[in-house]
Amino acid sequence: SSQLMAGKRGLIMGLANDKSIAWGIAKACADAGAELAFSYQGEALKKRVDPLAEQLGSNIVLPCDVSDEASIDALFAELEAKWGKLDFVVHAIGFSDKNELRGRYVDTSRSNFQMTMDISVFSFTAVANRAEKMMSEGGSLLTLTYYGAEQVMPHYNVMGVAKAALEASVKYLAEDLGKDGIRVNAISAGPIKTLAASGIGDFRYIMKWNEYNSPLRRNVTTDDVGKSALYLLSDLSSGVTGENLHVDAGYHVVGMKAVDAPDI
Ligand code: NAD
Repeated sequence: SSQLMAGKRGLIMGLANDKSIAWGIAKACADAGAELAFSYQGEALKKRVDPLAEQLGSNIVLPCDVSDEASIDALFAELEAKWGKLDFVVHAIGFSDKNELRGRYVDTSRSNFQMTMDISVFSFTAVANRAEKMMSEGGSLLTLTYYGAEQVMPHYNVMGVAKAALEASVKYLAEDLGKDGIRVNAISAGPIKTLAASGIGDFRYIMKWNEYNSPLRRNVTTDDVGKSALYLLSDLSSGVTGENLHVDAGYHVVGMKAVDAPDI
């Protein structure tokens, strides 16, 4: 697959460190010959993202806080100046107050509801709006979601409601942008120990539950997600849009989850 992404240029949003899902995806794309740019949130992350980008031969590392329209515009203006055209974007961004990623959904505050929806849902639409203008020859947009959008998962709460809205936006964006040859898809990843996941209550327990109950009897890795992302970002998926691809060791197909795990 070394030529699969040759000549393609992509923006990776949401790289925080080498545990990030964005890192698994970036590595898979770079291995397949893609040229990458990265955006990061806040100066503190720049010193982590710079060396990772360099490892993959990229020196385009730009700030972007997706809660700020001007910041998104500035990112795309810089990319436009550097590259002109863009072939793909990976949106691996989500955020909610961790105090509300435990306890009851019904207790969600209005302010955190709005912030969670803004950063975890609207930002993908805002990014798609800018990316479209740089994709005159078509392209592929990808976001990350979780099974908590489809079924109630413990502690996922407002983030589950946000992911459901994100999954609906994937479908609406696919329809709007399909005429221009731009495909829009999501990957629903199984639980992976990342910075964002560490905010979710009882996350270790959720990982164990998935490991014991999924058809593959294991958890997925960021490399598993990276390989599936490569499919959705490349021409291998040229006929696929509006899709939500579960990369979860099959967990979502199991009806009768009966864990047999003496140690959890
Ligand atoms: P991560 O902490 O490595 O990445 C989350 C990223 O979101 C960080 O880089 C952070 O800087 C960025 N971010 C947060 N607020 C932002 C803002 N205002 N502007 C710009 N960037 C902002 O964690 P991750 O698990 O790799 O998360 C990536 C995506 O994958 C998220 O959408 C997450 O919900 C999703 N996901 C994660 C899992 C899991 O178990 N880890 C499972 C399914 C889906």
